[in-house]
This record gives sequence, structure tokens and C-alpha cells, in this order.
Amino acid sequence: MKTIIIGGVAGGASAAARLRRLDEHADIILLEKGPYISYANCGLPYYIGDVITDSEKLTLQSPKSFRKRFRIDVRVNSEALRIHRDTKQVEIRKQDGSIYFESYDKLILSPGAKPIRPNLPGIDSPRIFTLRNVPDTFAIKNYLETQKPKRILIVGGGYIGVELAENFVHAGCQVTIADMADHVIAPLDADMAAEVHQYLKAHGIRLYLHTAAQGFYDHAEGIDVQFADHKECYDMVIMAVGVAPDSTLAKDCQLSTNSRGAILVNEQLQTNDADIYAIGDVIAIRNYVSHEEGYIALAGPANRQGRMAADHICGKDTSYAGTMGSSILKLFDMSIAATGLNEKAAQTAGIPYKKVFAYAPGHASYYPDAKNLSIKLLFQPETQEVLGAQIIGFEGVDKRIDVLATAIHGHMKVRDLSQLELSYAPPFSSAKDPVNIAGFLAENLQDGLVKQLHVQDFANLDAHAQIIDVRTDDEYAAGHLAKSRHIPVDELRERLHELDKKQEVYLVCQSGLRSYLSARMLTQHGFSATHLAGGYRLYAHMMKEQPLDSSLHGICGAKLS
Ligand SMILES: Cc1cc2nc3c(=O)[nH]c(=O)nc-3n(C[C@H](O)[C@H](O)[C@H](O)COP(=O)(O)OP(=O)(O)OC[C@H]3O[C@@H](n4cnc5c(N)ncnc54)[C@H](O)[C@@H]3O)c2cc1C
Repeated sequence: MKTIIIGGVAGGASAAARLRRLDEHADIILLEKGPYISYANCGLPYYIGDVITDSEKLTLQSPKSFRKRFRIDVRVNSEALRIHRDTKQVEIRKQDGSIYFESYDKLILSPGAKPIRPNLPGIDSPRIFTLRNVPDTFAIKNYLETQKPKRILIVGGGYIGVELAENFVHAGCQVTIADMADHVIAPLDADMAAEVHQYLKAHGIRLYLHTAAQGFYDHAEGIDVQFADHKECYDMVIMAVGVAPDSTLAKDCQLSTNSRGAILVNEQLQTNDADIYAIGDVIAIRNYVSHEEGYIALAGPANRQGRMAADHICGKDTSYAGTMGSSILKLFDMSIAATGLNEKAAQTAGIPYKKVFAYAPGHASYYPDAKNLSIKLLFQPETQEVLGAQIIGFEGVDKRIDVLATAIHGHMKVRDLSQLELSYAPPFSSAKDPVNIAGFLAENLQDGLVKQLHVQDFANLDAHAQIIDVRTDDEYAAGHLAKSRHIPVDELRERLHELDKKQEVYLVCQSGLRSYLSARMLTQHGFSATHLAGGYRLYAHMMKEQPLDSSLHGICGAKLS
């Protein structure tokens, strides 16, 4: 069996190594058009910011080490130019420009995705960079060291843009992120991203939302960037507006692709030619949760697909279950993670959902340095299955998102989250882990123990709504909804007579816990009560983003606690 693999990094290198582990006698050729194989794309932003200082650490295997360990014929600086399906051959260009043909029994395509460079005036300026691979990284680093840019614009607030922003701040630059969307990091919903926006700004990063760069104009002092209504001058621009599948080879030999250019594969990762597999950032995926066709470019799926294609070539009965988009990002001390569907994805797929917001400490609150995690959980109200989660915090975000990703993979229901037995000691968690708490909230909602309103619906309440803020005096003084009345939760039972039983009582606290307690109390005293999901904290974050033109819901006091 002779297998050619095109692309020698995440998916391709995984496939090659697995093929060898399964078949000591297979003929395996790994073609890579660049000079490196198996490099750490995900580590590249950290080399730019000097977090990783040794460039050799960026390559996990050299062609020599890979050859030695796996006896794989690694050919770097070798670009696959064309696939001749009729003769089962790949046409390859060597570094010296010469061209030769290599035959295959099986072919695996893992050419990845290219950064999108929109066709805008001035896009070819030498001051504009994209980041995909090691040479791009060296080019950016070299520009930083030799030209010493101060003002950097990052166009696109996705994972790569935001990671680069942090690393440019470490390098002493003044950073602006411009994004056409209403929030950064697309896997988050806008309500969760609001907290990230405040955090970016607190670190001196300027954020322009709803803002597209429309053209670039080089001059002696820098590069002018044209926005809709003004121009600004920068020293360097990074285009990080997303990636497009690198599928030219596939299209040229009539392999099926979708409108985005992603290669269509079956559950065995075979294209419409059964001897040609495609994996990684070049393929269209089936979303694990919604079962819709989609596109998710991540290292974990690419690596697993590489292994799986090799398994199938070696005769194993395998089938790829789909991608759910579990992802995580570090931003200074903050961690931001998501898995499964967000609201937009659920809406697009027509899947009904409910959402809850939990705000709970990463470890026991009495143990030093406890900080809260913000969790948003989406679930299907009929099946009660977990659909998706987003978490922002400073510690323990990774393990909670991975528990929730596992729950989604196992089609677990929100009640299962309440019952999960997770490890606990004060430095690591609380006896009720934040994942349990998210499950409790969803369960309470499902059981009708509490009614909740979300920030936008709360903002639409009429001017006479009975809104009670149940936080402490200090919290209320630091900032509250303009027309809310203040009755701390611990005084509520004694002051029930101050409430109008004929009217709904809308309850607000900082995170949603005390307002839930108050709602339970009032309901059992014959009131009808609804609480603000996510609390004043979430409300205030969102109002800072999009202040509502309403005297009812204006915020008094500026401080957010
Ligand atoms: C800066 C950066 C940070 C990232 N961070 C993360 C992260 O933190 N977490 C995460 O999950 N994902 C991250 N990713 C995404 C992740 O790296 C990709 O999803 C993953 O590498 C995709 O694997 P792949 O094999 O499909 O493509 P790649 O790993 O990109 O490999 C494709 C290779 O194919 C080669 N190639 C293309 N065409 C040809 C041809 N015709 N002939 C020969 N060779 C060819 C290319 O030169 C390239 O080296 C990051 C990506 C980047 C760029």
C-alpha cells in the first residue's frame, strides 16, 4: 500500500504517524510545500510576544526526526501541483522548480486553510501581515524587531487576532482591534463577549466594533487605514479576518466542495473519490450537535481526523462523529472557552433552546485567590440535552468547558450535570462545582421553580414595573437600575408589605443567586416573581456596550463590582 499525504502539519503528520504504527511495511510519502513539518501553529502568537523564546520549540518534529522514528519519506519544499485521478498520480514541484510524478494507492489531503486577504485597495502593502505558518511568524517578528512599529491595527477579533493583540501589548505596542461584528470571538454570544470587551479595554487595547477596514494607503510615516467615516495611521496591520479552505488542488481534480470551497467528505473522511481522503481545515464538517454542515478550523479535529483516515486506510471500521468546536483562548490572565452551539448557531439550525447564566468561584471562596467563572449554558428544553456552553474566567475554565464538552458528546441532560460527581478540595473547586451549579439552574428552570428574564427582555419592561434590587447597601450604592427599589434579601421577609401582590415582582441581584432565593421566598408567600438571569453584573456589562435609551433602565452609579 502506497499512501501520499499532502500537507505535513496537524492532520497530515498525525495521519502519517498513525499509518506507520498500523502498518510497518506501508509506503508513506509526506509532501509539504513549506520548509517545516509538524510545527506548532497554535504556539506562533506566543513566539511573537516572546513567551516562547526558542524558535526550535515551534517545530515538534523535523523531517529528519520524523523519518528516523517513523521511516516516512518526508519531502519538504515539495508542492503538490495537481492530482491526476485517472492515473492515480500526484504532480509535484521540487524547490529547484523541477517537476515529477508520484503514484499512489491512497491519497490524504491535509493542506489546511489560508488566511483571507480581502480584495481591498492597498492590501499588498508590505506593512500588512497575516499569520498562518512559521515563515509568517518570522516575518512579523522580524518587522517588530527591525521597524519597531508602535501603532498596530489588527483587523478581525477572532482567536488569532485576540491572541496576537495580547502578544503585541507584551512587545510594548499600542494595539487596536477592528471587527465588523458586534463582538469579538465569534463562538461567544454578544452577552458573554461584553465582559471580554471590558477586559481588552482595561489592558489598553482599543476596540472598534461594527467597523470594517476599507482600504490601506502607504506613505512615509506609516499606513493610513480607511474606515467608513475616518482614516487612522498605523505602523503595521495584521489581517486576521478568518481563513478559507486551501482546496484548489481538490477543485482542480473535480473533488466535490461546497460554496465556501470546503471539501465534502463522508463519515469515513473520503471525498467523492474513495481513494482520496481529506481532513483538517480543508473540509466541511458535520456539526456534532446540530448535524448541520459547517466549517470549524481547529487543531484537535484535524489531528483526530488524521488518525481516523489512517485507521480507515488500514481497514479499521471507523466513522467521524462530527465536530462541536470546543475551543479555548488565553487573554492576559483571562481564559475564554466555548463548546457546542451558541445562540446564533442554535437559531440558524432551528433548534429550540433555553439558557442559564451561572457565576460561581473557580475554587472554594474561602481559599485564597478565588475568582468567579461566568458560565452560559444552552440546553434543549424538550430533551433537556446540553447544547452548548461558554465560560469566561481566570482559573479552572479549561476543566469546566471540557466537562461540558464531554457532556455534550455523551448527549447528557442538564439533570446529569446536577448529579455529576466532580473532584473537590478547596484549592481546586467547591463542593458544588460550577458545572453542578449550571445544572441546578437549568433544572430549577425546567421544574418551574423560578421564572427568569434575560437582559434584553428586562430592558423592555414598562416604566411601572415593580423592580426590587435585593443586594447589599454598598452594592446598590455602587450602581443600580434607575427605577429599582432597594430591599436587601435579608430584610425581604419583614418587608413583604411594601410589595404590591397584584403586580409581578422583578428581582435583581449581582449574579442571579440572591434574586433566585428572593423569588423562591416571594413565590411561597403568594407573589408572582421573576428574576434577572445573570444579574446586574451581566446587565451592566451589556449596557456599557449598548446603552439603552431608557430612563427606566439607565444605570445610576458607575462602579461595577
Ligand atoms: C496562529 C494560529 C494559531 C492557532 N491556534 C489554535 C489553537 O490554539 N487551538 C486550535 O485548536 N487551533 C488553532 N489553530 C488552528 C490549527 O492550527 C489548525 O486547525 C490546524 O493546524 C489544521 O490542520 P491541517 O492539517 O488541516 O492544516 P495545517 O496544520 O495548516 O497544515 C497544512 C499544511 O499543508 C501544506 N500545504 C498546503 N498545500 C500544499 C500543497 N499543495 N502541497 C504540499 N503542501 C501543502 C501547508 O504548507 C501547511 O503546512 C491556530 C492556527 C493558527 C494559524
